[in-house]
Amino acid sequence: YEAKRTNKNLVYYDAELSQREGEILLMTNKIKGAIEQDEFLLFYQPMICTKTNKQHGLEVLIRWPQPDGSFLSPDYFIMIAERSSLILSVTKWVVIEAVNNLKVLQAAGFTGALHINLSAQDLNSHEFYDYVAELFKEDESISDVIVFEITESAMMTNIQGAKEMIMALNAMGFQFSIDDFGTGFSSLSLLRELSIKQIKIDRSFVDGMLKQKADYAIVKSIIFLAKQLECEVIAEGIENRETEQELINLDCDYLQGYYYSKPISLEDIKCKYLN
Ligand code: C2E
Ligand code: MG
Ligand code: MG
Ligand code: MG
Repeated sequence: YEAKRTNKNLVYYDAELSQREGEILLMTNKIKGAIEQDEFLLFYQPMICTKTNKQHGLEVLIRWPQPDGSFLSPDYFIMIAERSSLILSVTKWVVIEAVNNLKVLQAAGFTGALHINLSAQDLNSHEFYDYVAELFKEDESISDVIVFEITESAMMTNIQGAKEMIMALNAMGFQFSIDDFGTGFSSLSLLRELSIKQIKIDRSFVDGMLKQKADYAIVKSIIFLAKQLECEVIAEGIENRETEQELINLDCDYLQGYYYSKPISLEDIKCKYLN
């Protein structure tokens, strides 16, 4: 009986596994199609400067509209794209689209920075480096305003590769922000070795900071660390005035969250923040 049961379980898990593999394969093909058909969009979320109370820059966030009008979560499809080399094509699309839109934004009076999210594979890719170097050659001014956001875990995937990429892009003037700070493996020694412009405190700590002592302590410590290292510090996920006030009291440099604006289209950014 035991043997039978074990067998049955094996069959069950196998079926589940291949169903999941099938789903991933299907999604991978859909992403390929979306690149070819130009289905992706970029949305932008403002970052607010606590000193001036003004919009300081924009984070670029990819959107994939579905036939029913909804958007598929980037957390999901970026994760699938990261399992194949497709992520490189996605990143290249995001970068060129952001650079083109940057010109539109600047023509409308935008003077801030554009933050672009990168994946671990991008940091280990010659192709990505060459792509950015080519764009830089065409217009050197882009490196003054483009900041790349990378998560701690992406940096830790291949520390040496990440270090080399950061230094090579730094040499052209591109700056880096460490995203979701506090959730990955510690990259404190990398903060010391590399020139990092900004640390971005993960939303999970910001969200709980008024209720959980530990979250508050973590937020406060990250802000202190950033100041000591002479990095800028930004908090993401601000949803109410009380959290905003506390972060201003703690001397956080920049704030981002639904309290100010959800990510919105280029057109909406132009209407709401420019001209
Ligand atoms: P992230 O880079 O940490 O981006 C912040 C996410 O938090 C965004 O979700 C944003 O919409 C959301 N957010 C901002 N403020 C608030 C708030 O006050 N409350 C709540 N609940 N959420 C807030 P989104 O756009 O769904 O993106 C999720 C993740 O997908 C990003 O996390 C990033 O890791 C990834 N991603 C998005 N666009 C790209 C991209 O172009 N390339 C790559 N490689 N990854 C991307
Ligand atoms: Mg980000
Ligand atoms: Mg983040
Ligand atoms: Mg994230």
